[in-house]
Amino acid sequence: MAARGLMIQDIQGESTRMVGLAGDTSMLSEEAILRHECVERVMRVSEPYKLAGRRFHPQDTVVEATEAARIGGGHFAVMAGPCSVESEEQILSIARDVKHSGAHFLRGGAFKPRSSPYAFQGLGLDGLEMMKIAREKTGLPIVTEIMSQEYCEIFARDVDVIQVGARNMQNFPLLREVGALGKPVLLKRGLSCSIDELLQAADYVLVGGKSPVILCERGIRTFETATRNTLDLSAVPVLKKKSHLPVVIDPSHGTGHWDLVYPMALAAVAAGADGLIIEVHNQPERALCDGQQSITPFLFDRLMRKIGQLRTVLAENL
Ligand code: PEP
Ligand code: MN
Repeated sequence: MAARGLMIQDIQGESTRMVGLAGDTSMLSEEAILRHECVERVMRVSEPYKLAGRRFHPQDTVVEATEAARIGGGHFAVMAGPCSVESEEQILSIARDVKHSGAHFLRGGAFKPRSSPYAFQGLGLDGLEMMKIAREKTGLPIVTEIMSQEYCEIFARDVDVIQVGARNMQNFPLLREVGALGKPVLLKRGLSCSIDELLQAADYVLVGGKSPVILCERGIRTFETATRNTLDLSAVPVLKKKSHLPVVIDPSHGTGHWDLVYPMALAAVAAGADGLIIEVHNQPERALCDGQQSITPFLFDRLMRKIGQLRTVLAENL
């Protein structure tokens, strides 16, 4: 089968073994496969996402960025930090604060996908160096966005979780390349992409066979203008049903308003999200990017406590 260009996934259950074949299976005849004595049943799967889907992978995937930072399958993780790295002092101060409040990852953009070419574009490789310093000083693994294939090697070496932003969710060559890097990929849902398109994009990464994927719902474009985007919270249970991959919610981009972050973060936890990615800034009014949706370290600390309480309640057997 591999010689025909198909990907083979072997799933060993308690009493049965399933073999998944992904790729162009139109040339395979079900009858011919059934002639093998060990084959009991052949099933054609209609979902276009074979690797991200639950059918061949019934158990939840746990993505392990470091031993202490796991997400999925009951491991809940919070990624927090500024939209953009602005200076060493800024990222260090925020990293220390969010670590103190219990964040598991530090987020911070070095390469920024801005709608306007005249807006702050991020500090680039200098920003990445500052993220690395913050990791060294706090021990927090780092999450940062890749925008172009030219930085793949550097990201594979230096970054713990590689973010593919909403605007690049369907940049298929980039998805294929990050799928070969062997680092977890945080894949954000495109602004006008359906859940099935998100899962197909995840398959582009997973086909590389090396990089696990964390899915992220960050709000979609609708007719509503009261919020920056419409946070599709129903994506959490829908994705959990369709896919084994961890699901993270971004209430910052999902709403665009700092005062909506706290309630929507709690709602995401209640809906069953495996984690959150939240923009935190020590001086939101002076932020170079997304200050209006960034919460202060003080509010983040309160939110983390409330999340702890909520998770305790949710874990109780009622
Ligand atoms: C970000 O996380 O700062 C970002 C730009 O996200 P998105 O791709 O969801 O807009
Ligand atoms: Mn942002």
